[in-house]
Amino acid sequence: MSHDVSRTHLWRPYTQMRGAAPPLEAVATQGSRIILADGRELVDGIASWWTAVHGYNHPHIAAAVADQLARMPHVMFGGLTHQPAERLAARLAALLPGDLDHVFLSDSGSVAVEVALKMAAQMWLNRGVSGRTKVLAFRGGYHGDTMGAMSVCDPEEGMHRRFGAYLPTQVFCDLPRTAAETEALDATLAAHRETLAAVIIEPLVQGAGGMRMHPPEVLATVANLARRHGLPLIADEIFTGFGRTGTLFACTQAGIVPDILCLSKALTGGTMALAATIARTEVFEAFWSDDPAAALMHGPTFMANPLACAAANASLDLFETEPRLAQAHAIEVRLADGLEDLRRVPGVADVRILGAIGAVQFAKAPDLAALKARLLDRGVWVRPFGDIVYLTPALTIGAADLDRLIAAVTRAVAEQA
Ligand code: PLP
Repeated sequence: MSHDVSRTHLWRPYTQMRGAAPPLEAVATQGSRIILADGRELVDGIASWWTAVHGYNHPHIAAAVADQLARMPHVMFGGLTHQPAERLAARLAALLPGDLDHVFLSDSGSVAVEVALKMAAQMWLNRGVSGRTKVLAFRGGYHGDTMGAMSVCDPEEGMHRRFGAYLPTQVFCDLPRTAAETEALDATLAAHRETLAAVIIEPLVQGAGGMRMHPPEVLATVANLARRHGLPLIADEIFTGFGRTGTLFACTQAGIVPDILCLSKALTGGTMALAATIARTEVFEAFWSDDPAAALMHGPTFMANPLACAAANASLDLFETEPRLAQAHAIEVRLADGLEDLRRVPGVADVRILGAIGAVQFAKAPDLAALKARLLDRGVWVRPFGDIVYLTPALTIGAADLDRLIAAVTRAVAEQA
């Protein structure tokens, strides 16, 4: 029944509906497991698109949300405020590096990126500077599915390339891994300086664009060059934020303080739709004025939803009371050890590990449907894409479940490569 409904009414993400295999029906979650309607229990290798860092159904988050639900599930944020949002903003400001102190709440990663792009654009307008209509972004990047966010995704390989003609034109560069690439970035920034509003980067790992990792020095180089050319740096930590790379935020590994930082996904421990765009004081001050038109012109209906803020506060409690970063480190060690042998498998181009992310790249794109089926047969929920199969489990995953994931990926890749 539910499969029929799914076919007729529910339009699924990134799915060619014609001929698509019916989706699996999930009825419950627990810890690192997804329980299906047919009784199967799958070990989740990707924590629901990298969100469920504390595992599913953590009782502390459940209790906080239930308490908030009884008090005030939602209230508009225009002209009103509430403690869950006030507390969350103060806590994020305290956790983030430097003077990233000004928190704008929204409801998805893509919208957090839209807000960041808009903040950068309006910052210049408010300073009386016009013509800065472009953003420098990096090839291989992914920042979301809305129009502005799509415009800064990889323009050639990315999933949004077909929409090029509909999107604002941006400036693209390779991440500066070599001296020549650093020079090229410097030259591009100089050439476009008068038309650029900002530089945007996914710190340490380009996620949905292919799980490509770069060392902190590359991030530091980008931050230095952006500063040297007087451009605000937007760090999109929607994937990397909250422990995924081994530190609470990826930026701190490079010792940098971006001018604007985007968070979502694990912000609520993966329980609710919430996002934050956080600005440094210098950015915020460009909006601080007697002119009403200089105000940030954005306000999603469900921004600062109290239930989501309560979940986010409870999630931050767990980072204080439970050893998440140590768990991320233990996962890193285990992934490095467990996936290492795949380097020697013919057909495997690369194995990359960073924090609680393990990615295996095939030399050429495999038959994804067959690979997914092999993984499913082994009782794990993993979603390979392009030429990549990756693991980003809950940071709380138990050793036995993690070993099961690694064994399933290792065997499925070896059979497929
Ligand atoms: N930015 C990055 C780095 C992401 O990984 C994603 C989602 O995968 C997004 C933005 C978009 O977030 P959302 O899917 O919540 O709109």
